[in-house]
Amino acid sequence: MPGFTTTILHSDRQNIIEHGSVHKPIHSSVTYGHDARDLIDVFQGKKDGYRYARQGNPTVSALEDKLTKMEQGVASVCFSSGMAAIGALPQALLKAGDHVVCSIFLFGNTNNLWHTVTNLGINATFVDATDVYNVEAALTPTTRMVFVETIANPRTQIADLEKIGKLCQALGILLVVDSTLTSPYLFHPKSIGAGLIVHSLTKAIAGHADVVGGCIIDTGQFDWSRYPNIVEQIKKQPVAQWGMSQIRAKSLRDFGACLSAESAHQIAIGAETMALRIERQCHNATQLTAMLMGDPKVAAVYYPGLENHPQHALASQLFSAYGSMFSFELKTGIDPVQFLNCLNIAISATHLGDNRTLIIPVAQTIFFEVGPLRRAEMQISDSLIRVSVGIEDSVDLLSDFKQALEQI
Ligand code: PLP
Repeated sequence: MPGFTTTILHSDRQNIIEHGSVHKPIHSSVTYGHDARDLIDVFQGKKDGYRYARQGNPTVSALEDKLTKMEQGVASVCFSSGMAAIGALPQALLKAGDHVVCSIFLFGNTNNLWHTVTNLGINATFVDATDVYNVEAALTPTTRMVFVETIANPRTQIADLEKIGKLCQALGILLVVDSTLTSPYLFHPKSIGAGLIVHSLTKAIAGHADVVGGCIIDTGQFDWSRYPNIVEQIKKQPVAQWGMSQIRAKSLRDFGACLSAESAHQIAIGAETMALRIERQCHNATQLTAMLMGDPKVAAVYYPGLENHPQHALASQLFSAYGSMFSFELKTGIDPVQFLNCLNIAISATHLGDNRTLIIPVAQTIFFEVGPLRRAEMQISDSLIRVSVGIEDSVDLLSDFKQALEQI
């Protein structure tokens, strides 16, 4: 079996590509013509084929194939953003009266999303998922799904992944893992029994801050015959396909947040260098966090690679490295805004997984709208600063942070 990068680079060529092109071409066609009988069969799912770009496109399919291979899964569906992928979960798989157990440590917009769906009659309980006991205690007879992030954005809490996976498998509950912060290169949620994986393709997979996308990947670990919300039409297909078929039908067909062929192409190009970029970013993050830990102006550093991180042992056991995001707090009285403005290389900006190092004060920006109460629940202090470490030469990054610390 070829390695991670070899597989990504040569995935498109497993099928015939026009003119020997090394990339899957960008198919811009919205509609697809067939013999009339074939058209009917394609619409009725009796024959493979494309019909209309909202539900599928050859360039997007090529990316979906790559994502499936990256996670050693069975199928993938792409969306126009990571949030569209997460939003597809309640759209396609939940109904009023269902219950979801969510980690309390989630990306702010994902936290918002699970609060928003409670207006539609779906119940959500937020728990500290770093301990499986809290997940187990929140389960009810109507719990259909458990949703966690691997490394939580931005405070880096790590869900009790192995034990939550075992619990969900034993009870036949669908476990969905947002693995954006670990990427398919550092961790496979399939290994702990997750049924579905979510990625914001915008981040490490695309990697260049020039395209937005998201995906859901079926690991093949969940028995869809145990899921109560599959509609009769979908049940005509083989059981293994139920989950993704329903997601493609209900979310892409009915809600329409599809990825464009152009974006799929750009994400596929970015993905070719993912392993190289992530290795460099993890190296830089390790250097930078070690330096900050030793600085008298720094109050705390949150990075799973540090020995004092509460889930350091779990991260070492499950992940092949500790990721490119960390957060930290400066000592009381030091103005984070002044610090950020003293940096010459790191850019004050939101986003994660870019080639450039990005830095942002959290409570005043990306977590401003969730309000002080929910920020406190997520352990986000007013002085928390998040860093997405890029691929710059580490000596340059270290000296940039050092000179900024000296100035404040
Ligand atoms: N999941 C995580 C962990 C994220 O950090 C983000 C965005 O920052 C998303 C999902 C949403 O992805 P997108 O920005 O592509 O909608």
